[in-house]
Amino acid sequence: MATKHDWTKEEILEIYNKPLMELLYEAATIHRQNHDPNTVQVSTLLSIKTGGCPEDCGYCPQAARYHTDLEGNDLMSVNQVKAQALRAKAAGSSRVCMGAAWRNVKDGEEFDDVLEMVRTINKLEMEVCCTLGMLTENQAQRLAEAGLYAYNHNLDTSEDYYKEVISTRGFDDRLKTIDNVRKTNVTVCSGGIIGMGESAEDRAGMLVALSTLNPQPESVPINALVPVEGTPMEEQEPVSIWEMVRMVATARIVMPETQVRLSAGRTQMSREGQAMCFFAGANSIFAGDKLLTTPNPDVNEDMEMFKALGLNPQKAFEKKEQPKSVDAEHSQFQNLGEKPKWSRPGHKIERNLQAQEKRKTKA
Ligand code: SF4
Repeated sequence: MATKHDWTKEEILEIYNKPLMELLYEAATIHRQNHDPNTVQVSTLLSIKTGGCPEDCGYCPQAARYHTDLEGNDLMSVNQVKAQALRAKAAGSSRVCMGAAWRNVKDGEEFDDVLEMVRTINKLEMEVCCTLGMLTENQAQRLAEAGLYAYNHNLDTSEDYYKEVISTRGFDDRLKTIDNVRKTNVTVCSGGIIGMGESAEDRAGMLVALSTLNPQPESVPINALVPVEGTPMEEQEPVSIWEMVRMVATARIVMPETQVRLSAGRTQMSREGQAMCFFAGANSIFAGDKLLTTPNPDVNEDMEMFKALGLNPQKAFEKKEQPKSVDAEHSQFQNLGEKPKWSRPGHKIERNLQAQEKRKTKA
């Protein structure tokens, strides 16, 4: 059946609000038609540059303006990244996602280092993903040429609710970056977070934005907010497992071929809850004791869960063939020294400002 790209919010809400057993049955059926239900991809998320971010994302402990206990780090070296990737591979990961707390990519030495990290991991026969902030077309091409498999750029929430979470960049800039990635052969990873105070309509709105992209993202992470002390969302109530299952199942139904990734918030879920998410169509997880900066289940715990559920880790490049890495000296794309103007809407978000004020009083 051809993939539908004209989902409306009403249609998606209707799916999200179905009686749970019906929703699960429908999602599991679509899942089986498009994926092996006993295979789950295991990815490792590596924070290659932590903290000190100029953005004001209300959920994020890496934003410099909030007072959290986070220890920041400058960009890791290529060798450090290689060592961690080898460790992840030995523990069963087929994909490494490198995250840097940047607003956007800047041409220069640090980006050149990231390109080298991409080449290095690709040569280890692992899928390489990066999440580095906003990106121009030329930068996307350079990453593609280095052998990048996927680029992550989350929409986070609906366009309407985005204005309640972030004031330092616009939703359109996110879409523009995704579009720049789409001009290359790099796959798109884009999803969001639930539990930030948004409504079911906002959740549906986010799924509209993702599912109406053509092609749809190859990977969609669904995160449950992990409230971190010092951030504007520190007091947010955790989402229930039912909301998570509904979100996963709905994402599966509206994006049948996508890898739906169970991301942050797994430590708050029981194994039974996670099993229900896998049944509902989640087929990817992040392994490792940290998800950038928030806690994540231990690798051994995950492997025990896989054993109990009869799940197998997905092999690298099962969905798409391995890209070739072009060495820096043979690159066809120049460092353009671009200074793109990404927007700064600059509206006021009360809880973000309060968290910022608190930081000043603590400092
Ligand atoms: S989510 Fe990313 S862009 Fe936003 S503050 Fe955190 S590191 Fe910066």
